[in-house]
Amino acid sequence: MKKNGVMGSILSYAKPCKGKLLLSIACALISVAGSIAPFVAAYHVMVLFFDNSATSGAIIYWSLVCALGFLIKVVFHAISTTLSHVSAYTILEIMRKKIADKLLKAPLGITQGLSAGKVKSIVVDQVETIEIPLAHVIPEGAAALVLPLAVFGYLCVIDFRLALASLITVPLSMIPYGIMLGGYNKTYSKYMESNEHMNNVVVEYVEGIEVVKAFNQSTTSYEKYRRAVESFKKTTLDWYKSTWKYTTLGSVILPSTLLGVLPIGTLMYLSGSATLPDITMAMLLSMGLVSSLGRFILFFNQIKSIQYSVSSINKTFDIGELPQVSRERPIKKHDIRLEHVTFSYTGKEDVLHDVSLTIPENSFSAVVGPSGGGKSTLARLIARFWDTTKGSITIGGVNIKDIPLTQLADEVSFVTQDNFLFNCSIMENIRLGNPKAADAQVLEAARKAQCDEFIGKLEKGYQSMAGEAGDKLSGGERQRITIARAILKNAPIIILDEATSFTDPENEAKIQEAIAELTKGKTLLVIAHRLSTIKNADNILLINQGKVEQSGTHEAMLQKSPLYSEMWQAHIGAKKWSVRAGSKEVLA
Ligand code: ADP
Repeated sequence: MKKNGVMGSILSYAKPCKGKLLLSIACALISVAGSIAPFVAAYHVMVLFFDNSATSGAIIYWSLVCALGFLIKVVFHAISTTLSHVSAYTILEIMRKKIADKLLKAPLGITQGLSAGKVKSIVVDQVETIEIPLAHVIPEGAAALVLPLAVFGYLCVIDFRLALASLITVPLSMIPYGIMLGGYNKTYSKYMESNEHMNNVVVEYVEGIEVVKAFNQSTTSYEKYRRAVESFKKTTLDWYKSTWKYTTLGSVILPSTLLGVLPIGTLMYLSGSATLPDITMAMLLSMGLVSSLGRFILFFNQIKSIQYSVSSINKTFDIGELPQVSRERPIKKHDIRLEHVTFSYTGKEDVLHDVSLTIPENSFSAVVGPSGGGKSTLARLIARFWDTTKGSITIGGVNIKDIPLTQLADEVSFVTQDNFLFNCSIMENIRLGNPKAADAQVLEAARKAQCDEFIGKLEKGYQSMAGEAGDKLSGGERQRITIARAILKNAPIIILDEATSFTDPENEAKIQEAIAELTKGKTLLVIAHRLSTIKNADNILLINQGKVEQSGTHEAMLQKSPLYSEMWQAHIGAKKWSVRAGSKEVLA
């Protein structure tokens, strides 16, 4: 990402708190002005003493100027820092909201493909790293930049030759600092990459701990974790080692301003072209001047870290948005038509090729076919997880691109095997299907989805938290809760990604009953993995290699499609085998 792009997006995030930021800068400048006052006062007190004209009144006056200056410095620095912190947190809030908004508007397929660990790491950690630099860059940056300039200006007023003499170490120190900053961008990126890699590996390690333990992979997994941590340590140390000599040299040379002011001041004093108070003051000021210049290096680091974080946030969330319409369309019928639909995930290979089909209203259709043939892709396109590459999909004659996403979500329920429960009560988890539903309606849906019995057995019944109860629920029971949610939602079109495995026959029977309730009087499309469940479908679509190879009823398909017959035979064989294996278990 280009620098301008990054700065542009920081500014765009900062827009709502522009006023506060400007005020923070103004206060920082006033604070800097306040911090100069003690120097001015000290200079005048010195002049008074050298001139032998010091009176207690004049000294008290300059002492008050000094105290007032100090007070202004402290108070305005505090106001500036407070404002910059408020702005920084506002910017973080805006960034986090924008990311969430982006995730909502992005094609669902892409959002689902993002790793939860990575999203969390960016939304929480990466965004947070911006806070400290952002909150400190303004007051401290202003001080680090404006203070030396102001001091230099004041020195010029006293004597411009002394002012120039005080800068003698600046070009000298630029040599080591220059060497240190050469290749800074590259090293900084390497450091951040290593940091990110370590973060990802830690998240992966924690998220995958179940698999790691189950497959006894603790040694290899731990090895990867250890290597990431070590590599981060090495990168950081290497960076430090390659720069510490130059940093030390620079930080020793830069503040040694007396090297210039002392000999030149002495010469000027001896030749009578400068007074003692001027030279003393120049010595004092020059020391203050460069110490704040040194802080500029830190300031540089902070800007860099903001740039890096914003650019990496932008890169990760540089995902297209689904074009949206806002006006709802009346949808009177719920038949689905695909016309010449071609789709590619990557833009290179097509996964679906020129697919045209019709799913009549209130019919039961099933898609079957070899794994990887495109069944799930086809179903997801109907729910608009992505947009088709070519061709169109209509519901009741309306192109789904012309239906607002929220309306489409009301029209289509996509019930998958991933039965995600939110960490709220079971009651609220089901109510997600229709937030306006009364308790009685939730209970009715749960009963229809065969959930009543097992929920009743939980200690707090419907009020049990899904997180606490989650561990006690079987996969089938969790799935029935999500079916209850879909029953409550009552969408006219149901797309069902049939579960590949059930925990036990009792669960399977109950799930089938729940599904029967869910799909009563609906337009139903099932992505079938076990053919016995779709034997009664009105129409079976055999999808192979991204094309509809054949379609018809079960009987017709057995007649005309050798691939379907083969799949059916394999399924029957597997079923017999599983029944035999099951009875053996019972007998044993
Ligand atoms: P099926 O459901 O019939 O098993 P899919 O629709 O899941 O088939 O997959 C069809 C093809 O698309 C496969 O080659 C698969 O590798 C590819 N595919 C599926 N999902 C994605 C994705 N998110 N990104 C890229 N390719 C994908």
